[in-house]
Formats: sequence, C-alpha cells, structure tokens
Amino acid sequence: MFNKILIANRGEIALRIIRTCQEMGIETVAIHSTSDESAMHVRLANQSVCIGPPSPIKSYLNIPAIISAAEITGAEAIHPGYGFLSENYNFAAITKEHGIEFIGPESEHIRMMGNKVEAKKTAKDLGLPILPGSEGKVGGTAQIEKIVGEIGFPIIIKAASGGGGRGMKVVNEGDDLHSIISIAAREAKSFFGDESLYIEKFLPKPRHIEIQILSDGKDNSLFFGERDCSIQRRHQKVIEETPAMGISRDKINELGEKSSKAMKKLGYKGVGTIEYLYENGKFYFIEMNTRIQVEHTITEETYGVDLIREQILIAMGQKLNKKQSNVLQSGHSIQCRILAEDPKTFIPCAGLVENYHPPGGHGIRIDSALYNNYFIPPNYDSLISKLIVSASNRNDCLNILNRALEEYVISGIKTNIPLLIDIINRKEFINGDYDINWLEKNLNG
Ligand code: ADP
Repeated sequence: MFNKILIANRGEIALRIIRTCQEMGIETVAIHSTSDESAMHVRLANQSVCIGPPSPIKSYLNIPAIISAAEITGAEAIHPGYGFLSENYNFAAITKEHGIEFIGPESEHIRMMGNKVEAKKTAKDLGLPILPGSEGKVGGTAQIEKIVGEIGFPIIIKAASGGGGRGMKVVNEGDDLHSIISIAAREAKSFFGDESLYIEKFLPKPRHIEIQILSDGKDNSLFFGERDCSIQRRHQKVIEETPAMGISRDKINELGEKSSKAMKKLGYKGVGTIEYLYENGKFYFIEMNTRIQVEHTITEETYGVDLIREQILIAMGQKLNKKQSNVLQSGHSIQCRILAEDPKTFIPCAGLVENYHPPGGHGIRIDSALYNNYFIPPNYDSLISKLIVSASNRNDCLNILNRALEEYVISGIKTNIPLLIDIINRKEFINGDYDINWLEKNLNG
C-alpha cells in the first residue's frame, strides 16, 4: 500500500489523480512551476514542491528536480499522468532506480512502443492486424519501388522516429515518388535527428478506433471496449465517444480479445491504449499509448470503473481478479475537449478567466482545474476542461451535450465552445457519418 504519491503533472489530470488518491486514503504531493503557484492541483494536494521556472523543460520535464521532490517528501510512487514524462522510458527507469515506484508499465515496454517501427513489428508478432507496408525501415529506391509495386498507391511515408503527427507524407499515383522520399528523409533528419523512413498503405477515409486495456503484468489482461476518436484537427482529438457508432459488438469484442491477449503475452502492466484505423470493416494497428489517456473518462463513465485507481492498485502489485465476462458497458458517453483558443483561427489564448461557471445536472462530469479569476499561463497545453456527458443512449447524450455547452461560462478568454456546438449539430456528426478527415474538411464551412 502506498501512503504517499507524487503527481508529476499539472492541470486537470493532476486533479483527477489527487481526487482518486484522496478517496483511497493516499496522501499526495503536487509539483509545480513558478507560474503554477496558485494552480488548483497545488491547492488540493497535501504537499507541494516548486520544481522550476515556467518553461516545461526546466520544470515538468526536469527529471532530477522531480526525483528530488519525491525523495524530500518521502513519496513512494510517482504518477506521471499523460504528456510530459509519461512516455519517457528513462524517467520510468530512473524513478525505479531511486527506489520509487513508477505508476505505469515497465520502462522496456514504454521504450518498445515509443519506437514506431519496433511497435509495429511487435504488434505484428503479437498477432495484431497491421497495415501492409515495409517491414521496418526502408533502404534504397529499388526496395521502395518493390514495396509500392506490391501494395499499390496511395502510400504514406513516415519517419521511423517521428511522432505528434509530424513527418508524414502521402504519395498518390503519378506523384514524383523519388523527390517526395528525399524531402521526407531530409525533414525527418531535421525534425527527429534520424532520416530513416518506413512506408505503409494510406487509407483515404479511416476512423480512429482505440481499445482500452488494463493488464496486471502477471496473468490477467482485460479490455474495456473502444473509443471512437475520429473527430480530429491536425491529428489532435477534439471529441471522443463510446460505444462507436455502426460497428458491430462482435467486431469490437474480437478486436478487444486480440488486443488484451497480446498484452498478456507481452506481460504488460497497467493501463494502455491500442490505437487502430478502421476502414471497410477492417482494423489496422497504428500505435500504442502506454499511459492513461485524456479520453479515459468516457470509458470510466460507461463501465463504472476508476482507471486511475486501477493503475495505482496494479502498481502496488495487486492482481486483476475480474473476468472479461464481467466487464460490462452500459449507456453512451461523449467527451468534448474545451480548449483556450480562438474557435476560428485556432490561435491559443491564455489569460485571465474572469468568470467561470461550469454546467451541472444529470449526466454531466467536468474534469477541469479552472476557477474564477484563474490566470491560464501561456506555457502549457491549451486544454482547459473536459466536458463528459453520459446517458442511456446517444440521442439523449447529444441533447445533454447541447444544453451543457450552451450553459458553460468561461469569460475573459476565447474558447472552442462555439466550434463544439457547431460540430455536434451537423447532420454528419448526428448520423455518425464521418472519418478522421471530416472535421478539417468542414471547418468554418
Ligand atoms: P504519430 O505517432 O506521429 O501520431 P501515427 O502513425 O500515430 O503518427 O499517425 C498519426 C495520424 O496520421 C493517425 O491518427 C491518422 O490520422 C493518420 N495516419 C497514420 N497512418 C495512416 C495511414 N496509413 N492511412 C491514413 N491515415 C494515417
């Protein structure tokens, strides 16, 4: 049993973790930069330590300062949240070397899934469906031409060390393959310090469907359904929902079984998300996230599970005693990401929140660290609130969501609430007739 956990994060996810710790009787240590002195996570934690100036590199990514904070306060474990150091395998290893538990998977599994080429190879070896393409990095032009001859256009060229949706290029029939490859290699070198590339078949209209995994690293691995995260802008998710519309339960259960079996085989420990693209009735692995995700909330709401609590229990060495047949979903849940940004230009707008009034009532959950007169510092992610709405069916969910978005008051700064209202009232969204490109094609239209 841990008595004290340090949370190596800020904002809503730090609050989310503190709340579960309080319910479990575990003390919490917040870390913060100088610009986050009056942040809500600092106020709610039992203790707090200032770990550096506003720049993330010097504070929330500063490994020596965070480890020192854990040692000084006697924290027995560190929860990394999402973003920042959550998928840094060195941080996981260093934490353990200092005798502190890392609430997450083994460092080696984080490393393996963080390398795109290795992750794809591992997924294939574990029996997960992958997109046709090169087996690992591609070498000379002859090899590339041979693969393109086998899989056909269109293809997507990706940087082996890429991430964050950068460094990808689509090549269509008739495009100059050779010049695109040399540009991609040059860009990969300058963005990621590694010019190696790999290629795969490009899907023109896929949906993003991901599977939530919970594994104890010993003998049990479960899946908690899927999330449809196809409403995206620049590969950033904007709205997520579960269950996904128009995909049979049999198909989802088959994919979930495959995914959880793969994690059991790997000896994976903790929560994880396996992301797939879905087109023409088929799923294809794209990546695995070895941490809690922003959209874990909708799974919690429909499965009646606290995934942060499960993460902590697994890190304490507990086994998962549940059977897959007892993991049952009920109702529908949708999450909207509320961002501090201009809804038309998408330019982030930090600043003073003069008046804050979140919606309430039946079916509503708000995960946010905002309060009246809070000053949003410009140094961090623009996500300021997650509005999660649940109901017995999707139609009721949309009615509640409309009402809640209209009710939400965040004055003094611009937010994307007008855009969210626009999206959820479009007929394509209402009918579930969209893919990952839909939002960008229909913005401001
Ligand atoms: P990153 O690690 O940079 O986020 P991913 O491989 O996860 O890169 O891909 C990011 C996004 O790019 C995906 O969520 C999807 O929207 C799009 N994408 C990736 N591969 C393909 C593909 N083969 N066909 C169509 N879209 C793709």
